[in-house]
Amino acid sequence: MLSVVDAKVVALREQINCAGGLVTAVAPVVIRGQGNWVGWPGIHLEDPNEKIPESDPNDKTPTAGLRSEKIVPIRAEPKLFDSYYNGCCNGTFWPLFHSMPDRATFIADHWKAYIKINEEFAEKTVHALHLLNKQKKDKNGSPPIVWVHDYHLMLAANWIRQRAEEDEIKCKLAFFLHIPFPPWDIFRLFPWSDEVLQGILGCDMVGFHIEDYCLNFIDCCQRNLGCRVDRKNLLVELGDRTICVRPLPIGVPYERFVQLAQNAKPVFSTSQKVILGVDRLDYTKGLVHRLKAFERLLEKHPEHIEKVVLLQISVPSRTDVKEYQDLKEEMDQLVGRINGRFTTPNWSPIRYIYGCVGQDELAAFYRDAAVALVTPLRDGMNLVAKEFVACQINKPPGVLIVSPFAGAGEMMHEALICNPYELDDAAEVIHRALIMPEDERTVRMNHLRRREQLNDVDSWMKAFLKAMDSLEEEADDLG
Ligand code: UDP
Repeated sequence: MLSVVDAKVVALREQINCAGGLVTAVAPVVIRGQGNWVGWPGIHLEDPNEKIPESDPNDKTPTAGLRSEKIVPIRAEPKLFDSYYNGCCNGTFWPLFHSMPDRATFIADHWKAYIKINEEFAEKTVHALHLLNKQKKDKNGSPPIVWVHDYHLMLAANWIRQRAEEDEIKCKLAFFLHIPFPPWDIFRLFPWSDEVLQGILGCDMVGFHIEDYCLNFIDCCQRNLGCRVDRKNLLVELGDRTICVRPLPIGVPYERFVQLAQNAKPVFSTSQKVILGVDRLDYTKGLVHRLKAFERLLEKHPEHIEKVVLLQISVPSRTDVKEYQDLKEEMDQLVGRINGRFTTPNWSPIRYIYGCVGQDELAAFYRDAAVALVTPLRDGMNLVAKEFVACQINKPPGVLIVSPFAGAGEMMHEALICNPYELDDAAEVIHRALIMPEDERTVRMNHLRRREQLNDVDSWMKAFLKAMDSLEEEADDLG
C-alpha cells in the first residue's frame, strides 16, 4: 500500500487533470492499494471541515478513482503558508538547490514557517496511517509505504517516523527530490542545513534524479553530520539505521505523447525551420542566455536570416515575486531588441508566447520543430527534452540541444550538448543542428526515442517500488 505526501500548490483535482507525469504514474498505484494522498488543496478553505470534491463521473483521467476520503487536505493560515511557500521553499531552497546562492534569502521566520507546515503534514500523515492501520485486515502483511515528495517537505519524514514509532505503527518511508541536490559548499550556506539532512534521513530510501545528486547528498551527510557512508553502494548510516540513496531518473508518459503527436493538427503555417523553446519563465532556465545565443547565431551565420524562427513559449511562473517580474521585463525588452534589429518586411526572428499551452497543442509544436533548445543553467531533470523526443514521429526527425546542467543532459547522450553560458559555442551548436544531415538526425533521434520509451514514467514508478522492496538486503551491505 502506497500513500503519497506532496505539497504542490495546485488543487489536487486540477493537478490530476493537468495530467502531469508524476501524478498520472503514481495515483493509480495509490488507488489500487487504497492509499492516501496528503496535500495542500491549493486554496485556503474557510470551513475546516470542507471536503475535497469527488471527481466528475465523466472524468476519464487515470486518477478519477482517487476518492475524496482518500485525499487528506492540509490547512494553513494564509500568512504562515506564504512564508513557507514563497519565503522558504521558493525564496531559499529553490535558488540554493539550483546552485544560485546569491538569489537565496535566509530568513529565520520563513524557516520557522517551513518547520510548522512540515509538522502539519507529518501529523496529518500519521493520522492517515492510524486509519489505514485500523482498516488493515492482515496485520502481518507488508507495512505501508509513505512517499514524501520534493523540497517543500524535507523535514516531514523524520517526524512521521518518530510519531509512527511512538504509536507502534509500522511503515516504510521514502523521499524523492525533484530538483538538484547541490554540492556541499553550496548546501552548507543554509544556516539550518543539519536539520534538513536529519529530516530527509528519517526515510529508509532517498531518491534523486541522477547519481551526482545522490553523491552530493551523501557528501553532505558525511561532512555535516559525520555519518558513516558508502559511496559505492550509496548508503548512509545514522545511529542504528542505514538509509539507501538511489538515482531514480523520472521519465514521461511516452506513449501518451506519441498519441498526442499522432493526433495533433499542424500548428506552423511557416516554411521556415522552427527552433523551439518551452519553459516556465524562471531564472534557472537560461532564457536570457538563449535569446542572446540566438542573436549571435544570426550575427555569425546570416544565411539563417529569413530561414529560421525561434518560437519561445514562456509559461508565467511565481508572478507575484519581484525577481520573476524583473525577468519578464528583461525578456520582453530582449525579444523587442532582437526583433527590432533583424526583422525584415517578411519575417521576424522571434515569436514569443507568454502563456501556457495545453499538452495536446504542445505535442504539435514538439513534432514539427526542427530543433528543440533545452538550455537551462541548472535543472533537476527537464521533462520538455523528453516530451520533445517522444513527439518526434516525423521523418526525418528534428534535433535536440540540451544543457549539461540539466539532469536530462546527463543521460540523453545523442543530443547535441550546449553550455548555455558560452554564447559563441551555443550559437555554433544551434548552427550545427540546423545543418545536420538527415541520416545523422535519424540515428541520434532513434537512440533518444528508444531510451525514453524504455524509461518512461511507469518504469520510474516500478523502479521506485522495486527499490523499496529490496531495502532490507541493501541495508545489510554497510555491515
Ligand atoms: N508545459 C505545459 N504547457 C506549457 C509549457 C510546459 O503543459 O505551455 C508542461 C510540459 O509539458 C512539462 C512541464 O510543463 O511537462 C515542464 O516540466 P519541466 O520538467 O521541463 O520543467 P519545470 O517547469 O518542472 O521546472
